[in-house]
Amino acid sequence: MKQATQDSEQIAAGLDRISAFLRMAGWRAAEPRGLTPTQAACLSLLAGRGPSRVGILARALGVTQASASDTLAALSRKRLVERRPDPGDGRAALIHLTPAGRRLAAEVARPPAALTQAVEALAPAERAMLHRSLSRMILSLQQAGAIEPQRLCLTCRFFRPYAHDDARKPHHCAFVDAAFGDASLRLDCADHEEAGPRQKASALSAFEPA
Ligand code: SF4
Repeated sequence: MKQATQDSEQIAAGLDRISAFLRMAGWRAAEPRGLTPTQAACLSLLAGRGPSRVGILARALGVTQASASDTLAALSRKRLVERRPDPGDGRAALIHLTPAGRRLAAEVARPPAALTQAVEALAPAERAMLHRSLSRMILSLQQAGAIEPQRLCLTCRFFRPYAHDDARKPHHCAFVDAAFGDASLRLDCADHEEAGPRQKASALSAFEPA
């Protein structure tokens, strides 16, 4: 077996362990609050993305539209979300968090303390590399059609990779007009706007290993 294949299988096994831990932590966070893990994930998504259409939530959750509608109906009965007309399209509706939904979302969206401690135990250079690797892997999955498009710096029209000489903060965000480093690469940024194909290709090639 090729070394790269062995490496990817080992890494996939490691990611699977972390994923199992996150699923278990998701259950533990959701259950005492009277939520299913999908309902908790839906609240977290709405807190991160703001008011959204049902289809967008379904794709981000990786469930069918019918299943997302069931989840939203349950959250609506609990008065945690509400449907309002989309100001940009009179025939469509957006799902909003209610004040109670926002409070609960803030609790369930918090990553488990054990995971944040494990990440904080890494050296700053390891965290930056992990961030960079995650960005590239998520983009690869997105390009393969395995996951829905994510709001990554790597695909954002405001992203200017290696715009600065500062090795700690080489990149630039033209939205907030500020320099930042690999450890601050965003994986789900509310200000993200999709870049054109040429800009995305150029950002990705800047991130290819030398
Ligand atoms: S707007 Fe957000 S996604 Fe875009 S470059 Fe800035 S931080 Fe990254």
